[in-house]
Amino acid sequence: MSVHDEVPATSMGRPGGDGRFGEYGGRFVPESLVPACVELADAFESAWSDPAFRARLDGLLGSYAGRPTPVTECLRLSRRLGVRVLLKREDLAHTGSHKINNVLGQALLAERMGKRRLVAETGAGQHGVASATAAALLGLECVVYMGAVDVQRQALNVFRMELLGAEVRTVRSGSRTLKDAVNDALRDWVASVETTHYCLGSVMGPHPYPYMVRQFQRVVGEEAREQCRVLLGGDDPDVVVACVGGGSNAAGTFAGFVDTRAELVGVEAAGGAALGNGLPGVVHGMRSLFLQDEAGQILEAHSISAGLDYPGIGPEHAHLAAIGRARYHAVGDSEVLDAFRLLAETEGIIPALEAAHAVAWLVRAAGSGELTPGTTVLLTMSGRGDKDVQQVKEMLG
Ligand SMILES: *Cc1c(COP(=O)(O)O)cnc(C)c1O
Repeated sequence: MSVHDEVPATSMGRPGGDGRFGEYGGRFVPESLVPACVELADAFESAWSDPAFRARLDGLLGSYAGRPTPVTECLRLSRRLGVRVLLKREDLAHTGSHKINNVLGQALLAERMGKRRLVAETGAGQHGVASATAAALLGLECVVYMGAVDVQRQALNVFRMELLGAEVRTVRSGSRTLKDAVNDALRDWVASVETTHYCLGSVMGPHPYPYMVRQFQRVVGEEAREQCRVLLGGDDPDVVVACVGGGSNAAGTFAGFVDTRAELVGVEAAGGAALGNGLPGVVHGMRSLFLQDEAGQILEAHSISAGLDYPGIGPEHAHLAAIGRARYHAVGDSEVLDAFRLLAETEGIIPALEAAHAVAWLVRAAGSGELTPGTTVLLTMSGRGDKDVQQVKEMLG
């Protein structure tokens, strides 16, 4: 038995009491929200262990969202990089990313709890569009909070949400971006909890969100593991890599491989690297790592992809890093633009700028010899790049 056969230290199972992942996670909310979080945690556990709920969700993931998404072997990119690259194609899911997996789960859960109204926060607009989509499908009311700055930057997504029947509420407090939209969505939830479910977009916030969202996304990793075994003759990939904003596509991917010998790698934007540069703190209901100044003020994150502009990271990632089961790297905007073009030219796949971060790390690690030739890498292509083409055109001049 080689060292590679050892079973790693976590199974990404249920978190500890009150949603603890080691020293991270938890449920830090005003007294008035505790019953809602408890009700949600109980409802999720009951739904997740109910075969009828799971069958309904799996049915929608198949017939509506387009699952299973394929794993694509990248022959030309592999030849270029000297490592064997497989892509898990969340870009082919309905609405263009992995976000649909989470929102379908939460919308079904809201319905099961008898709540006919969803509130959601959004930065780039992608989670708002996904939430509005799930609400339209199930006939639920949907209100999306979005910072005034983002409303202006993402006018087309605002129109998409309106087309889907959602109401977009502009948030004018604070820096008028994502973190302020989260605050307003939480405030709405406190005031309307009898009728409303807060459909949170990533593996963050108070318990049970980080755990629940990871469970709704683990379909990505579980499918990929089976698909890799078929492609690799029963083997697992050596390295599994995904981009990290809040961390939901990475958490879902890692959950499928955490008990294998695969190395797990998360890739952050250099300007939003909460794992690289963050400090422990309690924000948005959870203890995790956040970009902050010396006074503990939360800083703005910056990257070319709005979907990675969150100044924190999901608590389970902070824990996976702390115990050494996953490692996290940051890549800069220019590497990301190069990777965006490289994947388009070599494979005919235009990636979301978020997913291009994972590709950028792969290019760097293959080029530096960090990945030995012949290494097999599974990379989660979290979304498609149609939404980013205009922006990239302007940046490339
Ligand atoms: C929203 C988004 C992300 C970032 O969110 P995670 O929770 O970190 O997965 C990454 N890629 C795409 C395509 C997205 O839309």
